Amino acid sequence: MTAEGAAQTALHARAAAVTREQFGHKVFVRAVVEISNFCRQNCAYCGMRRENRALHRFRAGAEEIARLIVDHAPASVTDINIQTGEDPVAARELVLPLIKILRRETRFGLSVCAGTLGPEMYDQLRSAGAALYIMKFECADPGHYERLEAPGTLAERLRHIHLLAQSGWFVSSGFIGGFPGQTPRDWLRNLELARSLPLHGCSVSPFVPGEETPLRDGPAADAAWTFNCIAALRLLRPAWVIPAVSALNLAAKDGYRHGLRAGANLVTINMTPDDLRGDYVIYKRDRFIMTEERVREAMTAEGLAPSPQSLAEFYARGAAPVAA
Ligand code: SF4
Repeated sequence: MTAEGAAQTALHARAAAVTREQFGHKVFVRAVVEISNFCRQNCAYCGMRRENRALHRFRAGAEEIARLIVDHAPASVTDINIQTGEDPVAARELVLPLIKILRRETRFGLSVCAGTLGPEMYDQLRSAGAALYIMKFECADPGHYERLEAPGTLAERLRHIHLLAQSGWFVSSGFIGGFPGQTPRDWLRNLELARSLPLHGCSVSPFVPGEETPLRDGPAADAAWTFNCIAALRLLRPAWVIPAVSALNLAAKDGYRHGLRAGANLVTINMTPDDLRGDYVIYKRDRFIMTEERVREAMTAEGLAPSPQSLAEFYARGAAPVAA
């Protein structure tokens, strides 16, 4: 975790070599649309927590978002990730109809990141045509998870990950590294938990103190540890899809590109409409927004090209989840 200098360079090079062996020079290109910032949860690290009463809340229109995607998704995009706060109303009235439209009108692989919902809603979303559910566990220590006011309990979150995997979803998870007070041991616990789960992918997000959160004064995550953690995850699970998250660019200059050099193999273009994006404050208002141009520049600079195959096709082809 704490490798630096030559040891760090060698670690990242090994992770990059394993990524190229598995995926060649192709990276998956997904677009994300953030369509509701209502949230019933109260995570201490997130500006969309329910106690942030100053936040203007929105729900987008399914038809309007569908038209945006159908008519304007960049040619390199193969998958769409539909993301919301934990908002069961949006899941039912927005996400579900949007998936139905996109399944009818497009060939995109469809991912959902909408928090802890019920088994029936998971089934409806999957029957409508979504294939991948993103359910992050955020922090592997149950006591710390509770202090962070993360959704429900860690045990419950993990139960839902297993439930989703057992009911036919491809599941990706993720965690935030570098919460104030965390040590390298905590980062390792995150890796250990991730590899014990029935996943097809996992993200590593550096902690960024959110302006409208109780953790606003905390120090940001150590960028080097974040990249080391991405590399370690790649070496632990060579076939997983590991996103380069946009927050890497807040952690370090050219952090996004560094993530791609350390083992990440998924890039995300933000397609949330401009007038809504500013209120989707997962950490800061001035998030680093990955436009198509920025994503293309990062890929080209690292000698990478968009995968013609969608994540959903890749998983369906039989990239089985690996759990310890
Ligand atoms: S991290 Fe997710 S569940 Fe937690 S407050 Fe933010 S939007 Fe809600």
